[in-house]
Amino acid sequence: MNYISTRNKSEKCSGAEAIVNGLAPDGGLYVPESLPRLTKEDFINLAKEDYPSRAARVLSLLLSDYTYEELLDYTTKAYSRFYGDDPCPLVNIDEGVYVLELWHGPTCAFKDMALTMLPHLLSAARKKVGEKDKTLIMVATSGDTGKAALEGFKDVEGTNIIVFYPSKGVSDMQKLQMKTQTGDNVCVCAIEGNFDDTQNAVKNIFADKKINEEIHAGGFKLSSANSINWGRLAPQIAYYVSAYCDLLDEGRIEYGDKVNFCVPSGNFGNILAAYYAMKMGVGVNRLICASNVNHVLTDFFRTGVYDINRDFHKTISPSMDILISSNLERLLFEISGRDDKLTAERMKALKTEGKYSVSAKELEALQSLFSVGYADDEETKETIAYSMDEYGYLMDTHTAVAYGVYCDYVDESADETPTVVVSTANAYKFPADVYEAVSGNRVDDAFEATEKLCEETGEEVPEPLKGLKERPVRFEEVIDRSRIADKVVEYCRQASNR
Ligand SMILES: *Cc1c(COP(=O)(O)O)cnc(C)c1O
Repeated sequence: MNYISTRNKSEKCSGAEAIVNGLAPDGGLYVPESLPRLTKEDFINLAKEDYPSRAARVLSLLLSDYTYEELLDYTTKAYSRFYGDDPCPLVNIDEGVYVLELWHGPTCAFKDMALTMLPHLLSAARKKVGEKDKTLIMVATSGDTGKAALEGFKDVEGTNIIVFYPSKGVSDMQKLQMKTQTGDNVCVCAIEGNFDDTQNAVKNIFADKKINEEIHAGGFKLSSANSINWGRLAPQIAYYVSAYCDLLDEGRIEYGDKVNFCVPSGNFGNILAAYYAMKMGVGVNRLICASNVNHVLTDFFRTGVYDINRDFHKTISPSMDILISSNLERLLFEISGRDDKLTAERMKALKTEGKYSVSAKELEALQSLFSVGYADDEETKETIAYSMDEYGYLMDTHTAVAYGVYCDYVDESADETPTVVVSTANAYKFPADVYEAVSGNRVDDAFEATEKLCEETGEEVPEPLKGLKERPVRFEEVIDRSRIADKVVEYCRQASNR
């Protein structure tokens, strides 16, 4: 199984190379040359297996330069770090409505599903391609990726990790999780600006020859743990297959039945994994893409025009406060009939004019599969309160965006297809807003809000978020985004002298 770039499909590489490189040399994203299919028998067998086995099987089809045994070793290690019996339980909250909880990992957000796996995939990939340089993982985060990547990569041999986050664009809890990160190979730095500024600055470093040479002189090669890395996407495909297997195993559906997946979206990585899972054989009726008021994606799927020339809003679902959804490039590539030239042109237009559009035929293809919607902060809080009152189910702000959009979708379509609402974070990651939603009272301090939320709902605080207050702060630096490159080079020097 080879990988090609969305901007140049004649260049091929192995899965291991795609993971080591992160981004293709032409700036495009790696995609599989063709997608493997799971058979009916595969699904029937997988339905009886546990999560690490299911994930290893899915990954072995996608990454043919890794053996199944090797992958099973990694999935077993990665998902043993999750709390509870099942790393991603499917909870039935209402007739035909299921919540897929992807936040039982070390940082309580869905990013853990992939970022506990990526270090294993990457370390093995480095050996497979004969990489001698150390790997410097560079991450731009809107909050959850950073912490999950830091936890995944801390003290992993042959790697260092540097994380940049927008100083005012993440929740207090997220910030504290990162500032208190342990490990000898980690660095965390806040940026003045929003997530798009931060992500753009980081992307520019990947493309900058001169800076890459300086980094190389320090004995490092850059790689990415952002969701553009195929090593992030592949493990995400597994939980869609697994959710379908759970529904089969519980007798809720039969093989071949279709389900909807409703996904709170930002960078478009999570929902894109659902799309690939469908291509691999999961029965899908609609993919419902949910946004907050930064609803570039909603507009795109409705009009065929992707346009970032608009105001950026800070919301209570900060991990979705994104205008440039990087992973959409992979979907564009697919729906254009894998036209690499056209995809490259569109990405160039996005960079220079902040917009591009797709053809009527492409738009039709998109609309035949994707439904869309968005929720503002008020609606999101109402949804959290509704879910608590109606089902006794506590949702975080991101999950509530998805559930709210799903409710609107059902009102409009009367669609009765079983639906999996993807839950991307534990409610205690956003305690102030969730507490306000369920109680009507505002408490700004994250720790006080945590206590109150616990009293109000009786819902337990997850293990990884306990005791955060007592941990020492290690990283307090805030820099201008123009200084990101200097910071990276400086960190390489320090790290290589150690
Ligand atoms: C990252 C994140 C999202 C958005 O996922 P994408 O893959 O970027 O679309 C949604 N919710 C939470 C809690 C997240 O951390």
